[in-house]
Amino acid sequence: MNRVRLLIFNAALGPLDYRVPEGMAVEAGSVVVAPLGPRQTVGVVWEAERLPTAPVPDAKLRPLIAVLPVPPIRAELRRLLEWTADYYCAPLSAVARMVLASGGALRGPATMTEYRLTGGAPERLTPQRRAAIDALEGEQATIRELAGIAAVSEGVLRGLVNQGVLEPVLVDCDRPYPRAAADHGQPELAPAQAEAAERLVAAVRERRFAPFLLDGVTGSGKTETYFEAIAESLRCARQTLVLLPEIALTEAFLRRFEERFGAAPVVWHSSLKSTERRRAWRAIAAGPENGGAQVVVGARSALFLPYANLGLIVVDEAHEVSFKQDEGVRYNARDVAVMRARFERIPAVLASATPALESLQMAEAGVYERLVLPRRYGGAQMPAITLIDLTEHKPERGRWLAPPLEAALRERLERGEQSLLFLNRRGYAPLTLCRNCGFRFKCPNCSAWLVEHRLSRRLACHHCGHETQPPATCPECGEPDCLVACGPGVERIADEVAELLPGARIAVATSDTLNSPEKAAAFVAEAEARAIDVIVGTQLVTKGFHFPELTLVGVVDADLGLEGGDLRAAERTYQQIAQVAGRAGRGSKPGEVLVQTRHPEAAVIAALAAGDRDAFYAAETEARRHAGAPPFGRWAAIIVSSEDEAEAREAAKRIGATRPHLPDVMIVGPAPAPLALLRGRYRHRLLLNARRSAEVQQVIRDWLGELTFPQGVRVSVDIDPYSFV
Ligand code: ADP
Ligand code: ZN
Repeated sequence: MNRVRLLIFNAALGPLDYRVPEGMAVEAGSVVVAPLGPRQTVGVVWEAERLPTAPVPDAKLRPLIAVLPVPPIRAELRRLLEWTADYYCAPLSAVARMVLASGGALRGPATMTEYRLTGGAPERLTPQRRAAIDALEGEQATIRELAGIAAVSEGVLRGLVNQGVLEPVLVDCDRPYPRAAADHGQPELAPAQAEAAERLVAAVRERRFAPFLLDGVTGSGKTETYFEAIAESLRCARQTLVLLPEIALTEAFLRRFEERFGAAPVVWHSSLKSTERRRAWRAIAAGPENGGAQVVVGARSALFLPYANLGLIVVDEAHEVSFKQDEGVRYNARDVAVMRARFERIPAVLASATPALESLQMAEAGVYERLVLPRRYGGAQMPAITLIDLTEHKPERGRWLAPPLEAALRERLERGEQSLLFLNRRGYAPLTLCRNCGFRFKCPNCSAWLVEHRLSRRLACHHCGHETQPPATCPECGEPDCLVACGPGVERIADEVAELLPGARIAVATSDTLNSPEKAAAFVAEAEARAIDVIVGTQLVTKGFHFPELTLVGVVDADLGLEGGDLRAAERTYQQIAQVAGRAGRGSKPGEVLVQTRHPEAAVIAALAAGDRDAFYAAETEARRHAGAPPFGRWAAIIVSSEDEAEAREAAKRIGATRPHLPDVMIVGPAPAPLALLRGRYRHRLLLNARRSAEVQQVIRDWLGELTFPQGVRVSVDIDPYSFV
């Protein structure tokens, strides 16, 4: 009797056993189709001893239906999935689902029909057809995609097909990617780069687990350094994964990559079209030979893909918060990347100018090898940072830029140099209220104010996406023309600059304005061509960008990030300001950074001004040690939510009442979460603070495993949380 155990993609179902029919070959990791009640399901064959379940007699087993035409999930990846599920207290099926991230890819090889211009003209050339033909020059895609590109209906394009203006082309969905060449554009490395690169290259060649912290100041050339490791991985015919924190950074990265290796890497992120997704997935699973994926650059979700032959993982800007996923499986891609490297027995490189304290601590403990690039590449100097005490230099009423910053902006404009103003707040104003009755615009689904966006004329919730038009009269008292904007967002700062410097070319750079790779690329091109004088941006512009003519950075409100009860607030403030400061003076001209603050005495602000990174980290280390915070202790959160307020409160109370009493785990709560209402769900929260010795995950599993909750209640666990809202 040939029976197998399947991991089924349904968190409510445990593993199930099936019979393997005569003549079907399966092994651990095979992706199969199995009957489930009257339907079918996809599952992965798993080692039965690792996935215990209640025994079922042979006679009751149903036969598998088919093996899907994809390579089996390798043991190294299966172990990583188990580790991730275990560590983050998530269902294994939810973790494994991230591997099979393209439904189309599972159906095997395929072809599709795309269309392109023939050069012919239609009988009747309507303006719409004219516009479509112009827009489609050089394009080849499906009718639906072309309709999107040309902004016309699919009907218009079908008309053009009938007229022979567009012709069908049969394409292989899995056509090979262009090949990257290890030695295409090899640069001359500075000595510190060469030294670090040598360590990385050796670890790639020897193929061993080796975690590195590539710790180099902004502009030191970390990218060129880890490119050498990628070159070695290419020479060894192995794959490389590069994780980036934002899609907006991908464009610039692709260009540099192509210059260095002669071909673009394979891109992976959540907004890929389904055809691109399946092509990338199959190329990744096929391996680096025969046109498969050699180098993949992606968002955190690229971490769980089924690489055929992974040889290196790079996490760039490894300190970034966006590597932490805060819904579904709540994992930290930076940490899982190191674990994946461990299971695959390959090197992992965490690159950053402002490493997370946790990463520095690992280096100090000798677990990570620290490679230091102490100076900027090519002799550029680090910018000087000067504080502007806002209690002394007050901006005018209704303005946010203090006179010294105004003067510096004016000076740059006169010299034809670029400036960057940083404020981590999208939109025009974070709060709108009625002057007459005090009414404040609040999100109906979240405990949050609606943010005014003037460019797009709407009030929007940044948590759930709820939007409304700003009304002409107050919805509460009916008074006309009485709404006032409170506080600044980047759009308001841009307005202030426009008033201050008439004629300056200003660009607002946020996730609202750069919301696609194309727009991000266009922004970079304009900034590089010096068609922009002043950039006003959020955290999006703090990293990755390299504009040689940018010589002034102004931080509008350094204290903003220090508000709120976030345990990493000081670290994040330090990182953001150090990173945005790092955009200044990257070319031959020296950079200047002006930081507006009301608290020049705060430790983190003082350390920034003194350029004393070590002092900041030393103070932060002591503060964390004192608080039993990471890396010295551990945090975990249990979040209980329901659309019914009473139900959520009751469930949280019940969890609280059954809490374990342990000497090394402190449990606080339940209490309403700071965001007590989020996307229509009421939320309560418990926090665990544990000594490193405690088995937090086991404690939580034992505790919650005993309880059952009503249907509408969701209980989620957040291990090593970043967000405390
Ligand atoms: P970081 O990522 O450390 O902030 P970058 O990798 O962006 O720094 O490098 C800063 C600039 O210096 C980039 O324009 C990069 O192309 C250039 N650069 C770095 N190293 C070299 C090198 N060895 N040869 C030529 N240019 C380099
Ligand atoms: Zn909302």
